[in-house]
Amino acid sequence: MRFDRKTALVTGGARGIGLAITERLLSEGARVAIVDRDPSVEAVAKTLGPSARALVADVTRSAEVDRAVGAAHAWADRLDIVVNNAGITGRSYPIWELSDEDWQQVLAVDLTSVFYVCRAAVKLMLPRQAGRIVNIASIAGKEGNPTLVPYSSAKAGVIGLTKALAKEVATRGILVHAVAPAVIGTELLQQMTKDTVDMLVAKIPMGRVGTPAEVATLVAWLASDECTFTTGAVHDLSGGRATY
Ligand code: NDP
Repeated sequence: MRFDRKTALVTGGARGIGLAITERLLSEGARVAIVDRDPSVEAVAKTLGPSARALVADVTRSAEVDRAVGAAHAWADRLDIVVNNAGITGRSYPIWELSDEDWQQVLAVDLTSVFYVCRAAVKLMLPRQAGRIVNIASIAGKEGNPTLVPYSSAKAGVIGLTKALAKEVATRGILVHAVAPAVIGTELLQQMTKDTVDMLVAKIPMGRVGTPAEVATLVAWLASDECTFTTGAVHDLSGGRATY
């Protein structure tokens, strides 16, 4: 299988897109460390079997991230795949109704965490000159979604981080990609108003919401050894909304 003997780490893997990615990697032979702040991740990992392991950590705290990434690596003395998936949309309001905390919280979860996880993971991948990192950005980071200024800004930051890091490690066997989904059917949508969700679906030429399994399929390819001559790219999953 594609991921036999590989160790993967997926943040925010207890539900939604992260869970679909975790299940996909497990189904193809990987052992997967699921990093989530919610202790219910322990029960989720149990139901997924012995190749899944829960690591409770808040990805906005660098010490917790360093511990979790170190534990994932120590599991089988290797870390092959990292998927930065944990994210929140924050409150969906125009900028003049947002507080400092709204901004800081979204930037911390959606962008600073990606920096912390990549920093810790790349240090462990460099000695083996091999690794695959996939950062879940958003179409919001390419186009900007009204009433989601912090989210759009953070996801644009994830895209910039991905491009810069990919170039830093391009000759060291570590490939770094971003995925930019449009609307995907998960609990995250419940944080948005119905008007916001309707507005987002209306922009999708295919006229529907995407599925977590569709995201997992693309991520699995980007995380695999079949992906060899692309790095630093942003891969859209937007039903035709973004074609650039
Ligand atoms: P969900 O809200 O369903 O799942 C997010 C997961 O991340 C939850 O398990 C959550 O745990 C975890 N998480 C949140 N904050 C932290 C933290 N500080 N530390 C550790 N874990 C944390 O989201 P989705 O599956 O919908 O989204 C996954 C990713 O995809 C996100 O980055 C999102 O921005 C992106 N995306 C989603 C789209 C969509 O339409 N759904 C579209 C475009 C991008 P807890 O239960 O504790 O909150």
